[in-house]
Amino acid sequence: MLRPCTLLATASSFIFLSSCANDPSPVRSSQPARLTASPAQLAVETPQSPTPIPSPAKTLAADLPITPKPIPPKPLPIPPTTEPEVAIRIETLALNQVVIINHAAGRLQIAPEHPSANEQNWTANAPIEIRVQGDGWRVTSAHKAGTPSITREFPAGELTIESLKSDSRPIQWNQKEWPGKLRVVRTPNNLDLVMDVKMDSYLPGVIAKELYPSWCDAAYHAQAIAARSFAVVEEARWEGRRHYDMVAGQQSQAWIGATENRKALSAVRDTRGQVLVHDGLVVPAYYSSACGGRPANALGVLTDNPFHNIDCVSTGNVSARRTSCCETTSVATWKASIALTKVQTRLQAWGSANGRADLASLQLPTSIEVVDKNAAGRPEQFRIQTRKGGSVLIESEDFRRAINAAGDSKSSMRSCDCFIRIAGGNAEFSGRGFGHGVGLCQHGAQEMGRKGSTYQEILARYYPQSMIVQAWK
Ligand SMILES: [Zn+2]
Repeated sequence: MLRPCTLLATASSFIFLSSCANDPSPVRSSQPARLTASPAQLAVETPQSPTPIPSPAKTLAADLPITPKPIPPKPLPIPPTTEPEVAIRIETLALNQVVIINHAAGRLQIAPEHPSANEQNWTANAPIEIRVQGDGWRVTSAHKAGTPSITREFPAGELTIESLKSDSRPIQWNQKEWPGKLRVVRTPNNLDLVMDVKMDSYLPGVIAKELYPSWCDAAYHAQAIAARSFAVVEEARWEGRRHYDMVAGQQSQAWIGATENRKALSAVRDTRGQVLVHDGLVVPAYYSSACGGRPANALGVLTDNPFHNIDCVSTGNVSARRTSCCETTSVATWKASIALTKVQTRLQAWGSANGRADLASLQLPTSIEVVDKNAAGRPEQFRIQTRKGGSVLIESEDFRRAINAAGDSKSSMRSCDCFIRIAGGNAEFSGRGFGHGVGLCQHGAQEMGRKGSTYQEILARYYPQSMIVQAWK
């Protein structure tokens, strides 16, 4: 049942495959689990860096091979009527690492998940040091002048660290400030640091990292609503399934914690509670740096979950994108030359990690050609021919993940919208755009805003037929 919402804007053409998002009934959850990869790890590609040219090295992180893990798809959520809290994993550490948390006020509140009779909540002097001890924790509080440090032990379970109510400034970890409460969660092999933070306290640190400081307010506002919509979907999707909803980084959305970036803060404040909605359900508003003029479809590129698709390819004025989106920006075109032996070993490694025996044993390629394109003309599948006459097919985004998994920014594949020529022992790439190309094109949004478009017009273009809805106040 859709709760009352305030309609703020209506866009112009289709967003979803009609079979995906039109029916919020429970039937949707009985769809076969087709996921072979976790979309959360692929959903958003962060192109931006403080430097004028987005660094390919940052993009690579989004493309690391992922562990196949079938997850039953959840239907998209209805707009929440109160501001959700999201759980953001900000770091994963080794079990023997010491977690040092500080606070400007010099005091922190520590709460164990399972308090013992002796160890309840503890107001400790900051900084504190947290170590794994046996199944539980050992927490050491700072010295006070002239006094020894204090150590307490806590039983197994999550530890929550937060500011005192009398001083709600963010906690500090790794020389940054992080709004919300920190949970230290022990997993079989690691320590996860997870911030539980209110949505609109989370978003400014996303927007500040996603866009350049010089970009226009309309792009910031559009990005705020897209990032909020994406986060609402992820929060609903992982609720009760995982101890976090998103990671701080390329695998979900970039997040730098607390920020004083005024454009980011005002974009989030001005759009507070607004999300993109299609047919009563929140849109998983993917975005990437530059579509290159040929947008991608989420299904098969970012997700196998039909509920999470955005059909931006077969609808809207796609042909106009080639000449009116991001074609004049710094990331419009790219070239790369990668030794064939590197291409081979990277594909082999990806094949081994992802259960593709044909790729794991790949011979040296002799040609790599596009064999399938989407409706916009963006390559969706490559055929790799090898010396001994072999032939292997690979989806274009998988190919890009395989090439980029090495983390070598000097020999990366910026987008799938490319042609590959083999010459002189190298694969010569010639391509357009940067990132997966699904949903909002950040450079295109900035171009629209620079020419006077509103954020509503930007969102209408990249998420056609979605509406901006006031979900919560
Ligand atoms: Zn574009």
